[in-house]
Amino acid sequence: MADYDLAIIGGGLNGVSIARDAAGRGLRVILLEQGDLGAGASSASPRLIHGDLEGLERRHFLRVRAALAERDVWLRIAPHLVRPMRFAIPSHSEERAPWQLRSWLLLYDRLAARNRLTPSATLDVTHHPVGNALKRPFGTAFEYSDCVVDDSRLVVLTAVDAAARGAVIRTGARCTRAERGKEWRLVTKDRGFRKVITARAVVNAAGAWTASVAETVLRVPPPNVAAVQISQIVVRRLFDCDNVYVFRNGDGRLIFASPYERDFTLIGTAGRTFKGDPAIVATAAGDVAYLCDAANRYFRERIEAVDVVRTLSGANMVMTPVSRRSQRDGAMNLHYRRDKAPLITIFGGDVTTSRLRAERAVTKLATFYPMSARWTGTTPLPGGDFAWDRFDHEVDEARERWRFLGEDQARRLVAAYGSNVKAILGDARTRSDLGPAFGPELTGAEVRYLMQNEWARFPDDIVWRRSKLGLTMPPAEIEALSAFMATDGCR
Ligand SMILES: Cc1cc2nc3c(=O)[nH]c(=O)nc-3n(C[C@H](O)[C@H](O)[C@H](O)COP(=O)(O)OP(=O)(O)OC[C@H]3O[C@@H](n4cnc5c(N)ncnc54)[C@H](O)[C@@H]3O)c2cc1C
Repeated sequence: MADYDLAIIGGGLNGVSIARDAAGRGLRVILLEQGDLGAGASSASPRLIHGDLEGLERRHFLRVRAALAERDVWLRIAPHLVRPMRFAIPSHSEERAPWQLRSWLLLYDRLAARNRLTPSATLDVTHHPVGNALKRPFGTAFEYSDCVVDDSRLVVLTAVDAAARGAVIRTGARCTRAERGKEWRLVTKDRGFRKVITARAVVNAAGAWTASVAETVLRVPPPNVAAVQISQIVVRRLFDCDNVYVFRNGDGRLIFASPYERDFTLIGTAGRTFKGDPAIVATAAGDVAYLCDAANRYFRERIEAVDVVRTLSGANMVMTPVSRRSQRDGAMNLHYRRDKAPLITIFGGDVTTSRLRAERAVTKLATFYPMSARWTGTTPLPGGDFAWDRFDHEVDEARERWRFLGEDQARRLVAAYGSNVKAILGDARTRSDLGPAFGPELTGAEVRYLMQNEWARFPDDIVWRRSKLGLTMPPAEIEALSAFMATDGCR
């Protein structure tokens, strides 16, 4: 008998979502990730959980409605990671006509009728906080509801849930070779050690590496794909309100400027075709300049390349010829023949539809194994067992129980861990009960928790993916964190 029913190559959002779905349906699953979970494209997404207002422009009404229903699902199953936000589109000559925007937004509200997010509105920004940061002469803006998500924590908590349901998650484990017969025999380099495992089916969810894994590891014809890259920039906070601004740039591309980690603004996205090694995707100077210029057309406060405190970029594959539809849905293909074990190839797609994509991928295997019914749309992710509109209440309760927590720290912890925050703070009565401090917020207790429960191995895993504390943590604190992780962290 094979060691596993399913071996997944790639620990990005697609890979972990399939691991969670399949483990919960009773399959024996192993996921192999060569680096850290979510270290590829999944930590560089536009962070939107949305119906895609642009889809209405293309008359994709059913798809927009389905994505809005999925937005609802995310609010139910990940109320800590997914936050409803008000999005504002300032009206100007290069934007769509006001009547057109207004009617799309009314339709958007109608298509999302089942949820309780605030409906769209027209704002006079000369007398509204949304207008404070904008250049004159913006007079009107259109406001609507959508959500943003912490994408890298979504990946990690999905993996945590998969593991809780029996999946084996191996980070630092690269699949280097695979022999395909009635079952798969996979060779891995697992933290320096060669290991061999067998599985009844394989999923290639290797993101930007999909084609090279197909060709060199699985030795099957690679899909027809093109590599694309998106980039975003982080600057000091450009505005005080909690809105996400949506601008249509001169070239027709949508630019989002969102509040990011309390003191920062995230501006994206710039896209381009990608060539090179996906492990070292860097933001081009031209993309930084493009995003700064885009922001400078709208915001009063000018930004230049020197103001950029961090760039985020990731590469992934899209089907060729490239279509908007394949970008949103991603691509999935099941291949099997007599005496050839099944292979699923899955790549791209947006965050909003990732759970559904995984559900469909696992369902495709139902002809090969008995499995239980679909379940991921109703079961919360770890720590997400509260209603999304109770988030502030959860923060208040945390502050009540752990009185040493400041408002901002409590918010960060609840947003990251939800109700599982108790597993980190335990019976602590003072801050010093949580061990050494690294920067103003990170404690030894949290580091230990992340190493023991969330596969964190290196400082970057913690300060950039399990949190974004790297934005404010001085280099000396990161060095201290590194020393702690190498010695005390796992005790
Ligand atoms: C250009 C681009 C556009 C995007 N547009 C959108 C958008 O419009 N909306 C939106 O919501 N999101 C968007 N996203 C982000 C979206 O989140 C990702 O496409 C999605 O997360 C899918 O990621 P993935 O799991 O396929 O790939 P990744 O997150 O890159 O994961 C693949 C993983 O496979 C691992 N791997 C590779 N080879 C091996 C091997 N041999 N052994 C073990 N592991 C291996 C890699 O280390 C990597 O971690 C975009 C991303 C990009 C790059």
